[in-house]
Amino acid sequence: MVDLIVVGGGMAGLAAGFEARQRGLEVVVLEARKPGGKVETIREDGFVVETGPDAVVRYKPWALALAREVGLGEAIVGTRPARPAAFIRVGGTAHPLPEGLNVVIPSRLGPLVRTPLLSPIGKLRAALDLVLPRGPEGDEAFGSFIRRRLGREVWERLAAPLTGGIYGGDPETLSLLAAFPQLKALENAHRSLILGSLRAMRKRRTSREGGSLFASFEGGLGTLAEAAARALGPALKTGVEVVRLQREKAGWRVETLSGALLARAVVLAVPATVAAKLLEPIGFPALEALAAIPYHSAATVTLAFPKHALPERPGHGILFARGEGFAARGFTWLDQKWPHRAPEGMALARAYFSGDEAEADEKRLLALALDDLRRLLGHVPQPTRAWVGRFPGGMPAYTVGHLERLVAIQEAEKAFPGLALAGAAYRGVGIPEVVRDGRIAVQRLFKEATRSGQSL
Ligand SMILES: Cc1cc2nc3c(=O)[nH]c(=O)nc-3n(C[C@H](O)[C@H](O)[C@H](O)COP(=O)(O)OP(=O)(O)OC[C@H]3O[C@@H](n4cnc5c(N)ncnc54)[C@H](O)[C@@H]3O)c2cc1C
Repeated sequence: MVDLIVVGGGMAGLAAGFEARQRGLEVVVLEARKPGGKVETIREDGFVVETGPDAVVRYKPWALALAREVGLGEAIVGTRPARPAAFIRVGGTAHPLPEGLNVVIPSRLGPLVRTPLLSPIGKLRAALDLVLPRGPEGDEAFGSFIRRRLGREVWERLAAPLTGGIYGGDPETLSLLAAFPQLKALENAHRSLILGSLRAMRKRRTSREGGSLFASFEGGLGTLAEAAARALGPALKTGVEVVRLQREKAGWRVETLSGALLARAVVLAVPATVAAKLLEPIGFPALEALAAIPYHSAATVTLAFPKHALPERPGHGILFARGEGFAARGFTWLDQKWPHRAPEGMALARAYFSGDEAEADEKRLLALALDDLRRLLGHVPQPTRAWVGRFPGGMPAYTVGHLERLVAIQEAEKAFPGLALAGAAYRGVGIPEVVRDGRIAVQRLFKEATRSGQSL
């Protein structure tokens, strides 16, 4: 019997495995496919292509902390300088994203006043945030919160396009408290989001390293998954799908297609849908809550071109507001965003799809991406190479009610000592958050065992 089995070797599972090793536990990480989960970096003839995530935010330090612990401190890279870095297309025109946004909240009045993204009336309405009273306590839909504080234009032209990609699906119905608790905290603490952001951004600016908000690694995010996998060594077993979980007297029996393993404790670092399936036979009381976490599809299409064949593409990328007539949510110019992602003279354009559009097959996604690129840039030749990343049902959405579901899941966990659920379904979808979640799950199990006088 081992101390701990981690089911799932995405970033949450790898981090959980690493945390267990740090604590001297005997751990096995069982991964059905390959380490890294949604993190998928393809390296081919000088191209470094992220078909999944492409960046971690620096101000959530947990992924970069793990990177340093697995020896990648020197390999952390920031984005290439670009001002403005990002654009939003509204009404057929690409407008620079106003500088100094705190998530989606303008934290400086200058850029808000100057931005052509909002009409004069839209700006006045946004400025009302400075005087509006606090809203009601409790949760509300993200869309109605932003409209209440900053008005419809900020929602449609700024907040919705910016956040539409983070959770997939429609950002309108996201839970403010589960998906953007920092914004509710701003309202609670400062009343005005703009005033609160101004103060928050001042603090953050002094603590941000390297100048760039986003980070990755030489060789892409896959470098982190690979290094974490290396740190686990033979404790990580890939190509092993867990099919059943059973409670035993002294712990857990984890059944795979190639046999069973026994462990004192188990971390399920798999999507909530898989966790629900594995937990059904043991009568886990929060199956409904797990099943109620909605998942949306995401997809990316990365196209390579000779640089000279494309018109100028300013910044790192562009997002599309609703109603602009694009199938994609936006494009990232990977070669302009990151150093060393394409051979000399080559450009990489990555389209991001989410929701229904992302469910198309590979051929259709390719066609949609190329159509969108042509609509955006004008004449664009056939790409010299293309890569498609499909993540059907791959993105959990924290809709209103998520926090209640989370409470039910956490209460149910208490009834099963030695069991913890971790990963993107619960307390944050970004890589930093899932890394933190995986590590905290192990810390909790460790404490729980110590408290009851047992060893893990
Ligand atoms: C297209 C896209 C772009 C994104 N962009 C960003 C970004 O730029 N920045 C950011 O921070 N986040 C981004 N995200 C979100 C982030 O990548 C994910 O939320 C995060 O990687 C999820 O990690 P995880 O370990 O919780 O889950 P997963 O990565 O889904 O890992 C779960 C693992 O469990 C395995 N598994 C499933 N069932 C079983 C089983 N029965 N037995 C054994 N193993 C099993 C799977 O194979 C998988 O490897 C993006 C996501 C997508 C899809």
